Amino acid sequence: MSLRLYSQPLVITDSGGKDSLVCRELARRAGIPYEVQHNLTTADAPQTIYYVRDTFRKLEEQGIQCTVNKPVYKGMPVTMWTLIPQKKFPPTRGQRYCCQILKENHCKNRFITTGVRWAESVKRKNSRGVFENFTSDISRRTILNNDNAEERLLFESCTIKGKRICNPIIDWSNANVWDYISSEHLEANPLYGMGFFRVGCLGCPLAGKIRWTEFRMFPTYERAYQRAFEKMLEGIHAEGRQTKWKTAADVFSWWMEEETIEGQICLSDLEQWQSDNE
Ligand code: SF4
Repeated sequence: MSLRLYSQPLVITDSGGKDSLVCRELARRAGIPYEVQHNLTTADAPQTIYYVRDTFRKLEEQGIQCTVNKPVYKGMPVTMWTLIPQKKFPPTRGQRYCCQILKENHCKNRFITTGVRWAESVKRKNSRGVFENFTSDISRRTILNNDNAEERLLFESCTIKGKRICNPIIDWSNANVWDYISSEHLEANPLYGMGFFRVGCLGCPLAGKIRWTEFRMFPTYERAYQRAFEKMLEGIHAEGRQTKWKTAADVFSWWMEEETIEGQICLSDLEQWQSDNE
């Protein structure tokens, strides 16, 4: 479909996680032409960066085109740490501007795969399908079912321009993914061996309380967020605007959904972390 509709190979988007790993392997086994792209979030763990770099080197030796997309905002290079002061509020579950700018700004007019799976999210289960026609207008979004041949043909003859998405492992469970990785002896991101269940930006607001563990293991990232919050507050104050936050630590505490009162710390997360790691 990618070759027919776009005259270009399928793009396997690779976050460095286990689902991308399976998608890469499926594409390889399918024997189709494909290329691989990784969107640099600038907030991934060093293990992910090295893993992606190493994977891409091996793929390029096999003649597969690999690209690392660096994020750009308003025409300028950007990182998570320079984006937060520009946006003047931290990324949250409801305001994931970072994903939009750091992760989803590429692959326009291409047919891509993602490792999205229903098992990962109830919301995704209700809103995503095996094939998607990507448009910001949800009412115009086309979601087709892979096992309905009639609809699939209709989709293939569609001439709408824009990004299209294939989610080849949308109905795989976590166990399916790990069974496949294990049975095919695929090399996964070393973060999984360090106790991580998900691989992505450290401090992602979607990760909830796990962020405390992430920051204990990668304290420089906590400092980077704190510095970004500091610069954010400087920008807000320079504009003469009021905020409820006095310091970067206040922003960090709010952002981490800490429920302790000002001036106190809570040891329950430490206990939770210890019991998780026993
Ligand atoms: S922090 Fe989370 S929401 Fe933001 S870019 Fe990373 S994965 Fe997306």
